[in-house]
Amino acid sequence: MKLLEYQGKELFRKQGMPVPRGVVATTPQEVEAAARGMGRVVVKAQVQAGGRGKAGGVKVASTPEEARAVAERILGMEIKGLTVHKVLVEPALNIDKEYYAGIVNDRSSKRFVLMLSAMGGVDIEEVAVTNPERIVKIPLDPAFGTPDYLLREAVYDAGFDQASHPALIAVLRQLYAASVAEDALLVEINPLAITAEGQVVVADAKVDIDDNALYRHPELAEYREESFDNEMDRQAAEQGLTYVHLGGNVGIIGNGAGLVMTTLDVVNANGLKPANFLDIGGGAQAAQVIKALTMVLSDPEVKAVIFNIFGGITRADEVARGMLGAAEQMTIPVPVVVRLSGTEQEAGRTLLEGSQYIIVDDVQEAARRVRELIGASANGNGAS
Ligand code: GDP
Ligand code: MN
Repeated sequence: MKLLEYQGKELFRKQGMPVPRGVVATTPQEVEAAARGMGRVVVKAQVQAGGRGKAGGVKVASTPEEARAVAERILGMEIKGLTVHKVLVEPALNIDKEYYAGIVNDRSSKRFVLMLSAMGGVDIEEVAVTNPERIVKIPLDPAFGTPDYLLREAVYDAGFDQASHPALIAVLRQLYAASVAEDALLVEINPLAITAEGQVVVADAKVDIDDNALYRHPELAEYREESFDNEMDRQAAEQGLTYVHLGGNVGIIGNGAGLVMTTLDVVNANGLKPANFLDIGGGAQAAQVIKALTMVLSDPEVKAVIFNIFGGITRADEVARGMLGAAEQMTIPVPVVVRLSGTEQEAGRTLLEGSQYIIVDDVQEAARRVRELIGASANGNGAS
């Protein structure tokens, strides 16, 4: 679950990090009121995207009236396809230096990795390409955390301003504490600013919480609602489905992530483009199947659906009943090709006989049938 900047900053503040006192606002009037008494302010678009500054979503204003005018432009604007509904208003900083600090949970090394760069402010991915030697990477063993000598070495190697080393080290230790406390996959400060007055300030925050750990954080539930980058992902999560929008025109539904991924591969290899990934999970009941079909068919691009079910715990006849229920409750305007195997497959297939569902024996055949029905995608070459 990716958090908005202001949410990440709230979590950072809990660790005592130097975060500006900000106010979240949804209207220009609120921004004006918030800016009163703050002096010069920065108004920042709260969307799930980096590069807001470049896109015009971060603006400094000298007076409350100007802040209101700036907010009028930022609220409602689109940044990378996302509409801005909220802004964060903070006292503006006189930034002297912009650093980068991040901690990722690195699965391959089974460590946290602390990353620092004196080339902050800009896209760190860009720095990784143009100046990889300017990014210091230090593995952190979870058994030892952030011993002082390691952080001292880190800020030294990164070339951070010497006078600020103690304050920077304190922030890095708090950043690590936040990462552990919140079960984060990623915590990032870019820029980690040094002001003209010599203060170290957390000027931006990016936090990605491990979804598998969310049950340990009921207090983060209120952030969930804002964490989806599109409407369909939100609906799927509400329905307990694992849905990922992929942008092609062949809807994919299967039970089990591995089976769905295999289906995506086969579809691609047949010159078709999958519209989505949708795993209805194990032991899916009829109601779940109806939800899944509704979800996939709500994508207007979808021209055909492949339903790939291997019955293990999930019984094929149960799925078939769900599919018949769906066909009764809704119009299914596109062909649905079904591969139904495993537990109770005969019963399942018998149930579907005479219905609008097209039954095939395996997933290769399913892809071939879909290609016959809708033709290959214009740019489908099977290589992706
Ligand atoms: P991002 O572009 O989405 O990463 O948003 P940031 O919060 O990082 O802001 C982009 C840039 O705005 C920063 O790198 C700063 O250079 C610039 N900026 C100018 N004045 C301020 C200020 O007072 N506060 C903050 N946070 N950023 C400022
Ligand atoms: Mn930033």
